[in-house]
Amino acid sequence: MKKHAIIPIFISHRGCPNDCVFCNQKKVTSREGDVQPEDVRNTIEQWLTTLKDVETVEVSFYGGSFTGIPMEQQSAFLEIAKEYKDSGRIDAIHLSTRPDYIDVPILDNLKAYSVDVIELGVQSFSDHVLELSGRGHDAACVYKACDLIKSYGFTLGIQLMIGLPGDSMETCRYSALETVKIGPAIARLYPTVTILGTELYAMMERKEYSPLTLDEAVQRTKVMYEILEGAGINIIRVGLKSSEIMDQEIGFHPAFRQLVESAIARDRISQALDALIDLPEGSIIDVSANSHSYGNIFGHKGSNREFFAKKYPHLIIKGAVDNDLRDNFYQVIPRP
Ligand code: SF4
Repeated sequence: MKKHAIIPIFISHRGCPNDCVFCNQKKVTSREGDVQPEDVRNTIEQWLTTLKDVETVEVSFYGGSFTGIPMEQQSAFLEIAKEYKDSGRIDAIHLSTRPDYIDVPILDNLKAYSVDVIELGVQSFSDHVLELSGRGHDAACVYKACDLIKSYGFTLGIQLMIGLPGDSMETCRYSALETVKIGPAIARLYPTVTILGTELYAMMERKEYSPLTLDEAVQRTKVMYEILEGAGINIIRVGLKSSEIMDQEIGFHPAFRQLVESAIARDRISQALDALIDLPEGSIIDVSANSHSYGNIFGHKGSNREFFAKKYPHLIIKGAVDNDLRDNFYQVIPRP
């Protein structure tokens, strides 16, 4: 049975005054948003007819800066979502926004409309990275916004990006550690995608920016993932969703989460195998994982299988499913 369903509603922030170098949302000055409040009702109705066997349903306003649109428009969208929440047809209201679009009047309004989850596009805790990325706010603004959101009792989410201008393994690690100090319930990790037509793309052409290689992005994200996971933060997304447009862009990989989780599996399984010394040629090793993590044992397109075969040619590794194990935990036992 599927547990949780999300009804996504994309509210673009047209006329956004910010200049994030990676952004591809078209800037126009007049109308705010393509979606109109009545579209929200239609979208929810359409989704509700298709959702079966779900325990909870959440309406989620995506687009990055929901609270940057005029307050009346926020209210018009939220009023419809609240109506569905009050009638019990949905369970939660979720939105994402920028740290500098959080203040007391905004949060009072979100509270009045029973919003549950606020995700902040933090991207980095390094002021240098934020500045080079044209974010228009500093890390101090992030701490302030997070404190305020938590003081209202909203569920907090933090989104971080990997590989922005000025970013490094150290700033990535630092951002993950600062996230842990704040203690959001949920997090998302997005490797930077260099999209044609953005300032970031122009920076790359001027040789002022070098996109990460896929391996660099995986290695940095792995470090951040393990820090967040170790602190019990629910990492709800790693990498952007695949789409026809996105598939063409520099830095995009459709299975990025699996690449990161496979790299983690490789480290964890290797560590356990290294501890098993003096096993005779042909020993069988059972490696168990729950069904969610099972595919990571052998890695994306069998990359870990190849790695283990080279590093441990005398061992035969067999995978098994054990749903009592937690995600990303691998039990490594030599067969008697
Ligand atoms: S990513 Fe930055 S520039 Fe683009 S819409 Fe969001 S806030 Fe505005």
